[in-house]
Amino acid sequence: MDMQRIPAQDGTYNLQNYEKMRKTFSWDDMKKHFSWNDTGKVNMAYEAVDRHAENPDKKDKAALLYSSPDREEKVTFGELSKKSNQFANVLKKQGVEKGDRIFMFLPRSPEFYATFFGILKIGAIAGPLFEAFMEQAVRDRLEDSEASMLITTPDLLGRVPQDDLPDLKKIVLIGEHNETSDKYIDYQQEMKEASTDFDMEWVDLEDGMLIHYTSGSTGKPKGVYHVHNAMVQHYATAEWVLDLREDDVYWCTADPGWVTGTSYGIFAPWLHGVTNVVRGGRFSPDAWYGTIDKYNVSVWYTAPTALRKLVSAGTDPVKKHDLSSLRHVMSVGEPLNPEVITWGLQAFDLRIHDTWWMTETGAQLIVNLPSQEIRPGSMGKPIPGVEASIVDNEGNEVPPNQMGNLAIKAPWPAMMRKIWKRPEKYESYFINGWYVSGDSAYMDEDGYFWFQGRLDDVINTSGERVGPFEVESKLIEHPAVAESGVIGKPDPERGEIVKAFVTLNEGYEESDDLLEDIRQFVKNGLSAHAAPRELEIKDAIPKTRSGKIMRRLLKSWELGLPTGDTSTLEE
Ligand code: ATP
Ligand code: MG
Repeated sequence: MDMQRIPAQDGTYNLQNYEKMRKTFSWDDMKKHFSWNDTGKVNMAYEAVDRHAENPDKKDKAALLYSSPDREEKVTFGELSKKSNQFANVLKKQGVEKGDRIFMFLPRSPEFYATFFGILKIGAIAGPLFEAFMEQAVRDRLEDSEASMLITTPDLLGRVPQDDLPDLKKIVLIGEHNETSDKYIDYQQEMKEASTDFDMEWVDLEDGMLIHYTSGSTGKPKGVYHVHNAMVQHYATAEWVLDLREDDVYWCTADPGWVTGTSYGIFAPWLHGVTNVVRGGRFSPDAWYGTIDKYNVSVWYTAPTALRKLVSAGTDPVKKHDLSSLRHVMSVGEPLNPEVITWGLQAFDLRIHDTWWMTETGAQLIVNLPSQEIRPGSMGKPIPGVEASIVDNEGNEVPPNQMGNLAIKAPWPAMMRKIWKRPEKYESYFINGWYVSGDSAYMDEDGYFWFQGRLDDVINTSGERVGPFEVESKLIEHPAVAESGVIGKPDPERGEIVKAFVTLNEGYEESDDLLEDIRQFVKNGLSAHAAPRELEIKDAIPKTRSGKIMRRLLKSWELGLPTGDTSTLEE
């Protein structure tokens, strides 16, 4: 098969005629799917949970299929509705009001979802934090958001700062504990006493719902503020991009501490009343394939970092499981290397669909759809209702095939409405009516977008611009290379040279011959100027806790510069 073009999958899809839809669609068409279009009463928690709980055909359907190494549970829409009502009553008793920031520092568990929707039901703003954060990362976010309450577990309490957070009045503890001060609220006790009825706080579409801090790949994480209106785009993309149908079993592997874990790990499936699989515990190829096998997952949304590990693990673990339930696979978070797409075709006989978006964008914007041809290495085309382009520093559009700043015509439904407490930062994203992403890309003549790297990561070597992604993708095609991170290293003669860091697959040892072989491989496969002049083997590539390669760290280590904010660095 021509790896430059992978034809559309056979079958019928929710979004069949993309070109026509793109011309005719308006976001107003989507609003008729929501009860607030008739009633004027808005709340994400109603549309994602209670609406199904009120529906006799849906209330006993599994909303959540949860499993972790030591716990397994099914939660129906009816149960989730009641549990979140109870928690909303717990919050009410504590005097929580609309607009308050209630943060969550929890492992993935059924309680996460009950408390999350309890927060939305009272009109407060939820702030989910990734469970692996250390104390400083937790402190920074609680301080910045001025959260008045935190929900956590006794196990994680050791990483919760206990003083000089004047706004933090109460801590809800889920699980056995010995805390006696009235700062602590016992979850089990309060839930037992709380009614399962609650009068939902009806909010405005533009009212705050969520604050997500970004991944910290390029610097200090930003508090991105999202509103209930985002549901319009979550609903639409669940239909078009996730291609969800009533009977699907859907699994999004992202943690709800990151935007993918809420927009697509909670809202997208539940706005459609689709069963959602959530897995606690660590990654391993067997555990992941086992999850697909056990629950008959049909639609799967994951990330390049995990997919690359699956590629490295080879086909043996694939063969041990029955993965025939899978119908549709997607990826987000980093560029999807063509090598991984090739692997997907071999291992699952399925195309892997790359999707591009950011914490700030709130939902998918540029995507590969099942009904369209895939060009490996391309993130695809904008969804209907969204206009994308490549602009220069002044916000002027540049011609096809020219590298520039990837930009989106503002606004769109799920767009952030603020960077918390940093209005000047928020304003800085917008130039000339465009939201400017900070990602470097180009658009080909057919309207496919091609990611090159973060704007700051693009390498200028002897007058040629080299995107690190292209070099990294070529490197991992070499049989010895598991992962790679590529940076530009200042050079008196060439401006910058390409320096690559790689980790090796099992069974390979570092040697001069191997290094030279890898260099030649890139030179022959890509170009002489993109071939790394320096190549270094590492035990691991630094990544954010959301699984993204931190090129800025590779660079500061290489140059002996200060490392900046490392609160989201993986161990
Ligand atoms: P920070 O903004 O704190 O530096 P971050 O940008 O990594 O961190 P996120 O909002 O989680 O935080 O990630 C968005 C970024 O991830 C995008 O700007 C882009 O660089 C990258 N990204 C996401 N999806 C894709 C994709 N499909 N292809 C290429 N890059 C992607
Ligand atoms: Mg970013």
